[in-house]
Amino acid sequence: MKKTIVDYRLNNKKVIIRCDLNVPIENGIITDDTRIVESIETIKYAIDAGAKVILLSHLGRIKTEEDKALNSLLPVSLRLSELLGVEVNFIPNTRGIEVESAINNMNSGDVVLLENTRYEDLDGEKESNNSDELSSYWASLGEIFINDAFGTSHRAHASNVGIASKLPNGIGFLVKKELDTLGEAISNPKRPFVIILGGKKVSDKIGVIENAVKIADYVLIGGGMSYTFFKSFGYNIGQSILDENSIEFCKKIYEQNKDKIMLPVDVVVGTSITQETNARLVTVTNIGSNDMGLDIGVETISNYKKILMDAKTVIWNGPVGVFEIDKFANGTRKLCEILESSYAKVVIGGGDSAYAVKKLGHREKYSHISTGGGASLEMLEGKELPGIKVISEK
Ligand code: AMP
Repeated sequence: MKKTIVDYRLNNKKVIIRCDLNVPIENGIITDDTRIVESIETIKYAIDAGAKVILLSHLGRIKTEEDKALNSLLPVSLRLSELLGVEVNFIPNTRGIEVESAINNMNSGDVVLLENTRYEDLDGEKESNNSDELSSYWASLGEIFINDAFGTSHRAHASNVGIASKLPNGIGFLVKKELDTLGEAISNPKRPFVIILGGKKVSDKIGVIENAVKIADYVLIGGGMSYTFFKSFGYNIGQSILDENSIEFCKKIYEQNKDKIMLPVDVVVGTSITQETNARLVTVTNIGSNDMGLDIGVETISNYKKILMDAKTVIWNGPVGVFEIDKFANGTRKLCEILESSYAKVVIGGGDSAYAVKKLGHREKYSHISTGGGASLEMLEGKELPGIKVISEK
């Protein structure tokens, strides 16, 4: 078991917490503060335990000097102050005298947030390439390192893997929750165990499909990726999304796992991805040449329901239709309803799936909604995440 923040005495210690405060910001306004809210528990625990709390996070990508102004953590620091009820001292630098003197002047219970760690990417991608010079500098600012940024744990960056390898370390409450729910569902599921995979492209999820057929009892495939399977069976898929390079993969994996993989039997098609298009329900062998398959149909939903009502563990990654357009959101919405009424432990992958269930479902009904899109996908592929691997065992 990994060490956690509660395994350390924090009083008067300089504790660096790597958070995932990578929230969407438009014109300086945070449009969804979920990630900040989810980070509060660990930060508050450290404050209450008397730590001098030093926060690090990335925000967006920094490729040019102009990206810096658009991706400053200043708005995040203001929201964080509100949520914590204590002042967060925002330092608009990632290193230097201002950073060092702010940290040297901290009292127990104070909070400092440094500027976006990826500002360091402008100079030789030091953050993203896990520069030893950079992580040594950051590590020199603290005494204990806590990784609570699940969303970047699949990356070996200076601000997670780099610092962790140089200081006594542990995970925060958010990462612990991800490992206890998503990690546990993958490694020790109650059966029947069902994985639902949707989304756009097969190529993004080849590793996930390969692992899913090994660990799950059923793999329900919907969304854009099902059309590459249909193409591999020789069906006409019209204008539906096709992943040409994955046709052979789909054919082979389906042949080897016919008893596990369940594909749509009917789909809702349109001629454009708009609310105005004329939507029709067709069986998957009757897709017309001008049709685009954009959602799963009623018989498919009913087939999925039979499997899902018996399931004890469900992991869902990827919407099963173009849920952003109401006309094609029905399949994803119905899946939300089915999962909300099931007795299974239901874990939702991050990214688009998390957004879809928040838009169409009731978030409190699921056992867990992951905060990491890429990280949850890599866990589903069966990979060990570098940001977690580097953390000491108890
Ligand atoms: P991903 O990031 O791969 O999970 O893909 C999520 C996206 O897949 C969402 O924006 C959906 O609109 C899209 N999607 C789902 N079903 C389809 C479909 N049948 N055709 C095209 N895009 C789809």
